[in-house]
Amino acid sequence: MAELKGRVRIATNVCKGCGLCTVACPVDIMVFNGNSVNLKGYQPPTITEPAKCTGCGNCAQMCPDSALTVERFTSKKEDPACLKA
Ligand code: SF4
Ligand code: SF4
Repeated sequence: MAELKGRVRIATNVCKGCGLCTVACPVDIMVFNGNSVNLKGYQPPTITEPAKCTGCGNCAQMCPDSALTVERFTSKKEDPACLKA
């Protein structure tokens, strides 16, 4: 069976820096690194190792501001199915 992977897009200017996504990620790749501040003055998360994303969607489901979009695909074939909180 092909391995499920994910790709996360962050709408950085929608983020309010609450950190819920960083807690929800089972592989701990959503982090605050202090490198950026958005137009609202909040710090959005950064994805440290995108290749480790499993596409589980936990981060997008937890985000209270729908700032995250997770695309799921397999190592064999792109899957157009898109999960958005
Ligand atoms: S989709 Fe899952 S594994 Fe990927 S960043 Fe979000 S919580 Fe982490
Ligand atoms: S859960 Fe949403 S609003 Fe909160 S830090 Fe993550 S992306 Fe930003």
